[in-house]
Amino acid sequence: MPRHPTSSPAIRTVGELALIQQIRTHAGRSRGAVRLGIGDDCAILRPTPGEELVITTDFSLEGRHFRRDWHPARSAGHRTLARGLSDIAAMGARPLAAFLSLALPVSIASDRRWIREFLDGLLALANVHGVQLAGGDTSQAPGDSVLADIMVVGAAPSGKALRRSGARVGHSIYVTGALGGAAAELVRLQAAPQRVTRAIADDTQPHLFPQPRIATGRALLQRELASAAMDISDGLSTDLHHLCEASGVGAEIDAELLPVHPLAAGLPSDERMRAVLHGGEDYELLFTAPAATRLPAKLGGVPITRIGKIVRASGVTLINDSKRHKLAAQGWEHFRT
Ligand code: ADP
Ligand code: MG
Repeated sequence: MPRHPTSSPAIRTVGELALIQQIRTHAGRSRGAVRLGIGDDCAILRPTPGEELVITTDFSLEGRHFRRDWHPARSAGHRTLARGLSDIAAMGARPLAAFLSLALPVSIASDRRWIREFLDGLLALANVHGVQLAGGDTSQAPGDSVLADIMVVGAAPSGKALRRSGARVGHSIYVTGALGGAAAELVRLQAAPQRVTRAIADDTQPHLFPQPRIATGRALLQRELASAAMDISDGLSTDLHHLCEASGVGAEIDAELLPVHPLAAGLPSDERMRAVLHGGEDYELLFTAPAATRLPAKLGGVPITRIGKIVRASGVTLINDSKRHKLAAQGWEHFRT
């Protein structure tokens, strides 16, 4: 709590203490690895012997990652945590605890419902994955935008966390689920904002309620199936380049093999390809495995599709109608001019 004389008219209206109390009640009692949760100066986590901690932080900034006029509050809260959980999934780790830093603008003070629904969305997803909200910070925002930052701490058996750097020439490339759905849904959302407000733990609203692939990531790690992995947050073209760079290899993917999300399937073909290749925010996993490794059709309840192979030549090649094109990274990138 910032104990500053001019602090926070907005937060005072909402009641910073009441808000934290609300979050604390909602977050529930400390359990599992969280020895001490919300309420003290620090949380206390107790990792299991033989495990390493994996840690990620992600901004969710109004106007950049969500818009209050497009995204229902529940979706903004869900997406804030989903971004962090997806990184944990990409490492094959199990999420232990989340920390939420929240800056709220004055205007939100008159809209307690927004905050309540934001927290509902975030905590419902936390519940699904058994991760506890174990702390955070609350402040008045300097401007009129909600600023959220989520930190998620996970655990993986020592030395076993999945990395981007293990792909080798000849390995097969796979994705989970389907691609392009989030981009296609966003187009609809722009036309009819706030139309859909129900959070369902399925894959029908991949933009508003993306489902982090925790179970799939953990299965890949436990069964030692993947040589490299990452999540697709910026778009397949961009993220596959990242994986290739980290591994010092190139990739060849086949357009016909790419799993197209039903929401994207109805788009005209060039828009569909753009959504699938560059759309971003699908939060599926991208991983590689030695060619001899047999993968089940589904892992952690999610379909697995082979989309190509790792090659020696650098960069990413897309094979489409038996023609080969160099595929540039055209997904999401901050500060791109
Ligand atoms: P301090 O001034 O010591 O940072 P705070 O008053 O900011 O303490 O926070 C009190 C307790 O509430 C801490 O345990 C902190 O982790 C928790 N907390 C504050 N804001 C949030 C939030 N947005 N989400 C979850 N926990 C929070
Ligand atoms: Mg604080």
